[in-house]
Amino acid sequence: VTPTIPSDGIPCNVFVELVTEYLDSSLPDGVVARIDEHLAVCPGCVSVLEQFRVVIGYAGRIGERDVDTIEPAVRAELMQAFREATTRGR
Ligand SMILES: [Zn+2]
Repeated sequence: VTPTIPSDGIPCNVFVELVTEYLDSSLPDGVVARIDEHLAVCPGCVSVLEQFRVVIGYAGRIGERDVDTIEPAVRAELMQAFREATTRGR
């Protein structure tokens, strides 16, 4: 399920929901453009993106279903890192 994208840009929590699809290139161009805009101004989300890339390196190809099933601990870790990063960012 793709969350609704607010007209004023993608908030961090929505980015986290979309990150696997972003890496999987399964998002519409318009959404990717919004994410790229957000990444340009949000180091916290860039950090999350890099960490997801590492996770995907371990797991091979990863999908939304995989995130829900095989990566709960890693996902929780990423969410924690993400919260810390975004808190620092503000
Ligand atoms: Zn962000």
